[in-house]
Amino acid sequence: MKQAFLRFISIFKRSKKSVCSICCQIYPDKQLTLVDEYAFCPQDLKLYNKLNWTAFLCVKSSPEEPENSVSIYKQQKKLITKNIPSFIKVDYQQNKNKIISTFTLFIPTNMIQKAFPAKFANK
Ligand SMILES: [Zn+2]
Repeated sequence: MKQAFLRFISIFKRSKKSVCSICCQIYPDKQLTLVDEYAFCPQDLKLYNKLNWTAFLCVKSSPEEPENSVSIYKQQKKLITKNIPSFIKVDYQQNKNKIISTFTLFIPTNMIQKAFPAKFANK
């Protein structure tokens, strides 16, 4: 699982550009800081350090079900349009011959309600 991650990083290294984990904008590598496996632009690095983060959504994806990961990235895009910062943690697990990826969406603890009001509406 580490290898998959390193391969992923090396692709970015060759291109000398990477994507900020929070705003998803592309920056030259020298403007990004790597913290806990994540790359952050200068502005979002401050956010990452300042805010408390809660794991809010978690999906598993396998080669047979890649669409699960697409949905979580769509959620992140939606949050960006609402000005709510978030980042996605990806873990890889090998299960027999299959690589299962777990995607976890983190959002600031104090913005959960703003991010997903429907989940807090009275039923
Ligand atoms: Zn950023």
